[in-house]
Amino acid sequence: MNKPLANDALTDNLRKAQQFLARFRSATVPHRIAGEAVTSSATFEDFDPSDNSVLCNVSSGGASEIDRAARAAEEAFQVWKTVPGEKRRALLHKIADKIEARSEEIALVESIDSGQAIRYMAKAALRGAENFRFYADKAPEAPDGLSLPTETHLNYTVRQPIGPIGVITPWNTPFMLSTWKIAPALAAGCTVVHKPAEWSPLSAVILSEIMSEVFEGAGLPKGIVNLVHGLGESAGKALTEHPAIKAIAFVGESVTGSHIMAQGAPTLKRVHFELGGKNPVIVFDDADLDRARDAVLFMIYSLNGQRCTSSSRALVQRSIYDKFTAELKARVEKIKVGHPLDPATEIGPLIHQRHVEKVLSYAGHATKDGAQIAVGGKRALDGKGNFVCPTLFTDANNKMRIAQEEIFGPVLTVIPFEDEADALRIANDVRYGLAAYIWTGDVGRAHRVAQGVEAGMVWVNSENVRHLPTPFGGVKASGIGRDGGDYAFEIYMEHKNIAIGLDRHRAPKIGV
Ligand code: NAD
Repeated sequence: MNKPLANDALTDNLRKAQQFLARFRSATVPHRIAGEAVTSSATFEDFDPSDNSVLCNVSSGGASEIDRAARAAEEAFQVWKTVPGEKRRALLHKIADKIEARSEEIALVESIDSGQAIRYMAKAALRGAENFRFYADKAPEAPDGLSLPTETHLNYTVRQPIGPIGVITPWNTPFMLSTWKIAPALAAGCTVVHKPAEWSPLSAVILSEIMSEVFEGAGLPKGIVNLVHGLGESAGKALTEHPAIKAIAFVGESVTGSHIMAQGAPTLKRVHFELGGKNPVIVFDDADLDRARDAVLFMIYSLNGQRCTSSSRALVQRSIYDKFTAELKARVEKIKVGHPLDPATEIGPLIHQRHVEKVLSYAGHATKDGAQIAVGGKRALDGKGNFVCPTLFTDANNKMRIAQEEIFGPVLTVIPFEDEADALRIANDVRYGLAAYIWTGDVGRAHRVAQGVEAGMVWVNSENVRHLPTPFGGVKASGIGRDGGDYAFEIYMEHKNIAIGLDRHRAPKIGV
């Protein structure tokens, strides 16, 4: 693999990133509770994945910090829920303005903190701003309900915010993912306690600063948004158990989702889960194979393969399998691994040493189960960082661990199939059901397979292109509930039915 070469753009990005990171390095990174910077005596270390040096020390919250934050969110909710939709709209647009103004800082900090290549991170910050703008414009209509009249009553429904929300996010593209939750929650009139992932906590600090500035500037309560750092088993668990928190919006692993459901059961938490995936991209022999190849490569090797909608299983029709796979191999060998701040880098370091070990363990599983390692399966570059070679497993079958388990790295497993029925059988033979991609020139087949595949989202002749009004989420072990559009309000709001008697009805008399 290519060694990272010093170049002007990398040097410039590194210099700017160091300036932005200086404040995190100089003191323990605090929580932000009711607008105040709060530090804990316990801390955890946040590492730079490109060399595993310590980037900074971060306050590690537990039950007491979560309690303070949840109480602040509960108090602020009494005010925020009454703020008119038009005013919420203006405030959320202000947050988007500020995100855009600091998008370079967010991109550089997140790129260093998470190891994701800067070429993708710049867009992630701007997509976060777009999420705020989209839900800003939906805020005025969030309470809208239905009119359901009968002869005797005028029934109408309204939607009301459920209360303080616990938002728990993972380490991959953390900024963008947290805005997916926080923007609709605020638009609905809910307040928030956010617990970001302990492996990439820094961009959440910038987001919480931006939001607090806007709310404090408007004279609103300081507890509308709160940020508590910490480990999943302490801060995360306490948040899911807190009685003032009415719903948990969670993005992460399926097994963590199960834990959260159990932890939230005593307080009857509403849960919204976006979980793991093992998404198939099905390539039929009648597809536009040039475009299909680009999309297959993009959807697994961008964002380090640490992406829930990555197409980690390529199902390729037997008649084109050898040629298509050889072409994939030639391209994978050329993918550029390097420092995340180098604009030429296509794959940066993986998030953590433990994650590198997990991802590389699948080379052993591949060989043991009888697949071929066509490319990679080992570390890349000679340094101390978490760099791994983009990896391509071929001649696999769907029973193998590399076909069944979410690896969450730049690793593609290619599996041949015979015909449409075989493709569908293989696609559905996993516990997950987040996304699926279909490449074919046959319109009828595209619709048949799209309807038959067990996934919450299907793209035909396209990579994952997000349209914010559409529902985003998975079936089976990939999730519960949907983000996006009006669907997100189902998590953050309650329907209330109000029935007005029209004087054409009298209750049956009793006691006369
Ligand atoms: P994770 O489940 O290990 O951690 C996610 C968050 O949950 C972290 O903030 C963590 O501290 C917290 N947590 C852990 N244990 C907890 C507990 N017992 N109670 C409360 N909180 C707890 O996931 P990860 O490794 O950070 O992220 C990768 C996973 O996220 C992958 O499985 C990926 O597919 C999934 N993901 C899904 C989507 C989607 O939209 N479906 C999007 C991005 C990532």
